[in-house]
Amino acid sequence: MTDHHHDHDHSELSETELRVRALESILTEKGYIDPAALDVLIETYETKVGPRNGARVVARAWTDPAFRARLLADATPAIGELGYAGRQGEHIVAVENTPELQNMVVCTLCSCYPWPVLGLPPVWYKSAPYRAKAVKDPRGVLQDFGFELPPTTKIRVWDSTAEIRYFVLPMRPEGTEGWSEEKLSELVTRDSMIGTGLPKQPGEVA
Ligand code: FE
Repeated sequence: MTDHHHDHDHSELSETELRVRALESILTEKGYIDPAALDVLIETYETKVGPRNGARVVARAWTDPAFRARLLADATPAIGELGYAGRQGEHIVAVENTPELQNMVVCTLCSCYPWPVLGLPPVWYKSAPYRAKAVKDPRGVLQDFGFELPPTTKIRVWDSTAEIRYFVLPMRPEGTEGWSEEKLSELVTRDSMIGTGLPKQPGEVA
């Protein structure tokens, strides 16, 4: 955690935020958009478009052992095989959940996040309470998110930085034998790839 370099990232973020705000106010002023519509758009990127990329990566890893091995060995090129690459994704590390280990990702200093696989970070990811509590009391965070791990499951917290952005490979739910990659990807939630949630269960998708 001591080699955490965030200066570059902070300036990028604030620059982006400034641009978004400027654009938003111009567009609102001119009557092109209303801020509520923009919120819906941002929400879509946070929860749908972005994380669908990660969901496809996870589903591929669940169905293709060779891909899974490449993903865990060096995630950036493996993710690139599916066509996902770009800013904030130059060095992604995939960490695998097991029955004994739950991985959880945080950026303690700001909001470093693997954009090519997860899109924009959710608001809570950037919040001070999440950033602080994820380190001090990760099990408590999971309870806040509504799930309880068996006491025997360890939790490992990974601090993302401008250099390394972590991405969780959740466990494939039971009862999905023979499912297609496409159908499996529907089980993969954004939060399950941050480590603050679990994939959906087979009964939860049509
Ligand atoms: Fe950060």
